[in-house]
Amino acid sequence: MTETQLRQKIIDLCLQMNSTGLNQGTSGNISARHKGAMFITPSGIPYENLVPKDIAKVTLDDGELQWKGPYKPSSEWHFHRMILLQKPELDAVVHTHSTFATVVSIARESIPACHYMIAAFGGNSVRCANYETFGTPELSTAIATAMEDRSACLLANHGMIAAGKDLDNAMWAAVELETLAKQYYYAKLAGNMQVIPDDEMDRVIEKFKSYGQKDK
Ligand code: 13P
Ligand code: ZN
Repeated sequence: MTETQLRQKIIDLCLQMNSTGLNQGTSGNISARHKGAMFITPSGIPYENLVPKDIAKVTLDDGELQWKGPYKPSSEWHFHRMILLQKPELDAVVHTHSTFATVVSIARESIPACHYMIAAFGGNSVRCANYETFGTPELSTAIATAMEDRSACLLANHGMIAAGKDLDNAMWAAVELETLAKQYYYAKLAGNMQVIPDDEMDRVIEKFKSYGQKDK
């Protein structure tokens, strides 16, 4: 994929996440690693107005923010950069304020193994990161803890993050996480919720390593 194609792909996925109802307005943001840099949506610009050159390019290192673009990067550049730096196997990050993930995050609850698909995120739960102000390094630190051995988390009173090996995989993960949050929410309402035991989840996590076409 060329850099311009990657920039366009980020815009396409932003439009997709809003048109499918996963996200709304200028909430949420998307980033991807490409040739050692991070490409990320600009802050607060309606997705319909974006063209490839508007996607900000951010240096991928621990230092002060350095970026190029007509608009400043998403206010959440800090946690996007932290995730890409800490998880070299993941090249894309989707952040949304999707409804059910946000509802669960408002209760500041982690999602337990109420469905085996929780294994898609690396363990037997998707944790909820402690509340911190949006766009702060403190939020980034809370997310780093919640995402230890995981590729996703909820953000207390805010939303969710799902990362993936590429942009399509990260968006797939975001849709799956929203689905899980919805199932968890309704299961709690229905009552008598049974959680899958840890030893079974260990088997599912192992099986997930070859799920789909990964071992082709
Ligand atoms: P940006 O428009 O700066 O990306 O912010 C949206 C958001 O979700 C902040 O948490
Ligand atoms: Zn947000």
